[in-house]
Amino acid sequence: MIITLTFAYTISPIPVKAKEAETLGELKQELAALKKQKADNEANQKNTQNQIKAKENAIVTAESDISQAQSDIETAESNIEDSNAKLKSLTEQTKKVLEFTQQMKSKNAYVEYMSGATSMTDLIMRINMIEQTTESAQNMLEELEKLIEENEQLKVDLQKKQQDLSAKITSYQAKIQELHGDLESYDKFELDIDSKIKVKQDQVNNYVRLSKQKFGKEVDTATLAELDVVAYNGNWLKPLKKGRITSTIGSRWGSYHNALDIGGNPEGTPIYAAASGTVSGFIPRYKCGGNMVYINVIVGGQKYTTYYYHLLKVNVKVGDVVNQNTIIGTVGGYSTSSSHGGYDSCTTGAHLHFGVAKGYFTGTIKRANVITPPGFPNRTGYTFSSRTDYYG
Ligand SMILES: [Zn+2]
Repeated sequence: MIITLTFAYTISPIPVKAKEAETLGELKQELAALKKQKADNEANQKNTQNQIKAKENAIVTAESDISQAQSDIETAESNIEDSNAKLKSLTEQTKKVLEFTQQMKSKNAYVEYMSGATSMTDLIMRINMIEQTTESAQNMLEELEKLIEENEQLKVDLQKKQQDLSAKITSYQAKIQELHGDLESYDKFELDIDSKIKVKQDQVNNYVRLSKQKFGKEVDTATLAELDVVAYNGNWLKPLKKGRITSTIGSRWGSYHNALDIGGNPEGTPIYAAASGTVSGFIPRYKCGGNMVYINVIVGGQKYTTYYYHLLKVNVKVGDVVNQNTIIGTVGGYSTSSSHGGYDSCTTGAHLHFGVAKGYFTGTIKRANVITPPGFPNRTGYTFSSRTDYYG
């Protein structure tokens, strides 16, 4: 089926100034700077993914330490309950025995008890009985004393455990909060230095190609603006024919999520360019994001980077000019996920990670530049059933 678009788009060269490098020569300098940075920082280059893992682990350790202390207290409390019950029952028994011996000690009761003997044997038995009762009352009293002491000790222990716990909670609270804060500053999809170098190298190669095309040779002083071929259109379309937002832009699971996740489509579903433009970046099989495509677009005179992650198949390369009918690739995210034998640790099921940021792609998506993709709400559960559905 052919989709008839209700608006006209044109692809025409429009001079555009790149934000950072303005000439091919400057772009080459940026590439050289990245390579130098990689060499300089190789020793202390910290892997973002490892840092995130370490911080997540520190939170889990702190939380499990607290929960262990809490469970210790529960055990101590239940020990005290047992001890209280034992104490109560022994107190009652002792009381009964003591009452009996007290009764026996009063002369009348003793005489009465003895004179009730029916035989010599019975009399001896009664004398023994009184002696034993007195002795066992003594033992019980001793045991009772011991139990009371133990009970007191248990209470002291519990109090100490409770103090330890509240000290732990106080000291960890700040630490956990700090760790969560640190995690929220991470963008898991941030490219590592090698990928940034690849992005820059691809861009240099593309502008070298455009320079040769235009001037018949590589001209370092040629401005990117004069070399750029920009596909212009004044509208946005959905990148999929249907779908449902499953995750929004913002801090999620402790780290920053820079796009909308769109589910509701199986792997292999075609993904279209949401706006016409030029492919400005392609990262294959990235450890967090999988196959990632970046497309520079201009809508309403504003420059944007559109980005599409977790793709199963990619049909475009850097420098390609695409329009809104171009199938740039297909939905992945299930078979490509590390949990299902793939390479991408930042997905578990089939979906498209679709984002829009102000400005052209330079190798980094700046958080401050990320916007809610036009035509979408930043709200989980929003569904659409056509590329022309528009929210807002
Ligand atoms: Zn996502």
